[in-house]
Amino acid sequence: MLSFMIKVGINGYGTIGRRIAHAVSLQPDMTVIGIVKTKPDYISRIASNTFNIFINDLKNKEDFNNRGIKVKGTLEDLAGDVDIMIDSTPEGVGEKNKQLYDENNIKAIFQGGEKSTVGESSFNAYSNFNESVNKRFVRVVSCNTTGLARTLFPIYNRFGIKHVDATLIRRATDPNDSKKGPINSIEPSLKIPSHHAPDLKTVISGINIDTVAIKVPTTLMHVHVVKAQLKEKASREEVVEEWNKYHRVLRVYGKEGLSSTAQIMDAAREMQSNRSDLYEIALWDESVSLSGDTLSYIQAVHQESDVIPENVDAIRAMFNLEDKEKSIEMTDKSLGIGRRNI
Ligand code: NAD
Repeated sequence: MLSFMIKVGINGYGTIGRRIAHAVSLQPDMTVIGIVKTKPDYISRIASNTFNIFINDLKNKEDFNNRGIKVKGTLEDLAGDVDIMIDSTPEGVGEKNKQLYDENNIKAIFQGGEKSTVGESSFNAYSNFNESVNKRFVRVVSCNTTGLARTLFPIYNRFGIKHVDATLIRRATDPNDSKKGPINSIEPSLKIPSHHAPDLKTVISGINIDTVAIKVPTTLMHVHVVKAQLKEKASREEVVEEWNKYHRVLRVYGKEGLSSTAQIMDAAREMQSNRSDLYEIALWDESVSLSGDTLSYIQAVHQESDVIPENVDAIRAMFNLEDKEKSIEMTDKSLGIGRRNI
């Protein structure tokens, strides 16, 4: 175990990067040395009140200076000054950055948009924390895969699962994006199973799953319809009792007005959580049912934030700072997970 603060850099400060930076800054055993930005936009300006700004291309320094944003250095400078870089750049860019991290002899975490081969392991805190202990390069799986792992792992672990069929109704893009669509169509992924099924196997290796993914015109959350055929006999009460042991699974009730993703995100805003985020997977209580050996349920995933606790836990695993239970407890406490009741 180490007794000093882990020095963290964040490369790519978009939807995911800025949330990771904030979450890391709340931890007692790690500190944010700086973030890497590409443009002197409003996000850079706001971030500069809290974090040191590094840039990925020195020729943009004057643009940042002209906008009054102080530049501390380059991506290369930051890589030379941290223990670990959290790469949260757009899909495919992380893989290109890996060489820089390697040359600087630092560790790195990549996000779910990268191929699973970018890391020595893929990560979900509940299902395979220990596979990333002392690793140098780790990938935190995507928002959808994290959502599936969160609710399926407790069931897989306790009752065993013969087979899962999941339909993923995906938000088209994030709320801060006004460019991507669709805005008036429903777009199925014609590849069946979608990439989520093999991705889940990178964090729950023995699971047998098929997934279908469909994109719809909304920005708030994804919704998953899950059917899991269990190996052992279970009652609804036993299943719910199992989920109740895991704080990152939050049961929500349609009868209390939480009948769609709109109200769930409204409740997150009402709770005044960080950026109105919902780190937990919202699982609709009324949807949970058992027919023979098949468990059915519907859940909602806040894509902007569910992977944030996992990034913090992955850092602890990679430096062997704490064991799985202690790390999850620390992360949950810092982010207010487990104290909510919506
Ligand atoms: P984003 O587009 O919101 O943010 C990426 C940021 O990186 C932007 O600020 C962009 O300007 C910056 N950037 C672009 N090129 C760069 C470069 N060469 N160097 C440094 N910064 C650069 O993307 P995001 O949604 O945060 O996604 C980041 C990663 O997280 C992807 O792998 C994605 O698949 C994954 N992910 C996204 C979500 C989600 O719902 N948004 C959820 C889970 C995982």
